[in-house]
Amino acid sequence: MKNGHSFGRTAGIETICVHAGVEPEATTGAIMTPIFQTSTYVQSAPGEHKGYDYSRGGNPTRTALEAALAALERAKHGISFASGLAAVHAIAQLLNPGDHVLVCDDVYGGTGRLFRRLFAKYAIDFEFVDMRNPDALKSLLRPKTRLVWIETPTNPLLRIVDIRAAAEIAKAKGAWTVVDNTFASPIFQQPLNLGADIVLHSTTKYIGGHSDLVGGALMTNDESLAEQLRFIQFAGGAINAPQECFILLRSIKTLALRMQRHHENACVVAQELNQLSAFSEVIFPGLESHPQHALARQQMSGYSGMVSARLKGSFDDVKKFVSRLKVFSLAESLGGVESLVNHPETMTHASVPPDHRKKIGIDSGLLRFSVGIETAHDLVDDIRQALS
Ligand SMILES: *Cc1c(COP(=O)(O)O)cnc(C)c1O
Repeated sequence: MKNGHSFGRTAGIETICVHAGVEPEATTGAIMTPIFQTSTYVQSAPGEHKGYDYSRGGNPTRTALEAALAALERAKHGISFASGLAAVHAIAQLLNPGDHVLVCDDVYGGTGRLFRRLFAKYAIDFEFVDMRNPDALKSLLRPKTRLVWIETPTNPLLRIVDIRAAAEIAKAKGAWTVVDNTFASPIFQQPLNLGADIVLHSTTKYIGGHSDLVGGALMTNDESLAEQLRFIQFAGGAINAPQECFILLRSIKTLALRMQRHHENACVVAQELNQLSAFSEVIFPGLESHPQHALARQQMSGYSGMVSARLKGSFDDVKKFVSRLKVFSLAESLGGVESLVNHPETMTHASVPPDHRKKIGIDSGLLRFSVGIETAHDLVDDIRQALS
């Protein structure tokens, strides 16, 4: 199978998306990898098999997917999981009692919940900090710091963390850097090239891209980490099923095309929102008004499809606005071809403690748009008519 290192350095990302991981099936030449819907494999003699003995340990559809996932981040290893959080869980299982972990403070809610509610009891110290200032980060590393957990852009405030600076600081102290790259997608940001040790994706979002599955992935170039994470995948069992691997393989073929349109449409929607007096603030890394626009430009090659904005007025006005939208659907999740709008305070971030929400700036006027791949003027018209 072709992994991230099988393509020449000059191979374009669209070529990688179409071809990564996929080879004609050996017995028939089928161009698409079949769904190997099987739990076990017949052995010719005890212990003699063709590389697969039981589908928790390995399945050919998953092998193809994992090669494709690795290729997307130009990594040596890709490891897929049943969900994004199962991938987070796998990394958490690398930790030992007494370890200290630095986590960026507006990390995905489920990641924070997993650390606080499932792993803090194993005497692992999770410290949630603002990572926008790398110098401040330096002073927070301790001898016991094992992991620096970065998400950039963050959800829903689209803050940017300097991956290269943070990874350098972590490496100097012997800590691993993990980057949750879900919002940027591998098309617009390659954290391994910036010094990160592990990249994480909720493949539920842009990589899947059609709001029809839940999945997760880890990519790394580090042989020892790959071996440990693969063992956790096998021993812990949070694998994804062959059918889902197939759907993801199909999704990856159009990832670069979809991301380009998400980016273009988000730029149009952000500009439009910025011109409307109904919104007091528009948050999008591609806008010059974003306080970290320069950093975003430097470490991302596109701004992806997420835009947040604050609507002036009461919560009733927010409810009226979202109920009048026709092209944007009111729903959690993101990264699908269809446009969604989410109200973080009452939906995705309802479980974040109110004082923490207030501290980081999630209020009742904040809306998060996942801009889809529809015709841009239909999205703009939809927002205008919903305000009138
Ligand atoms: C959705 C999401 C996750 C969790 O992924 P699931 O597939 O829902 O388990 C993790 N990180 C980010 C940034 C996400 O958006």
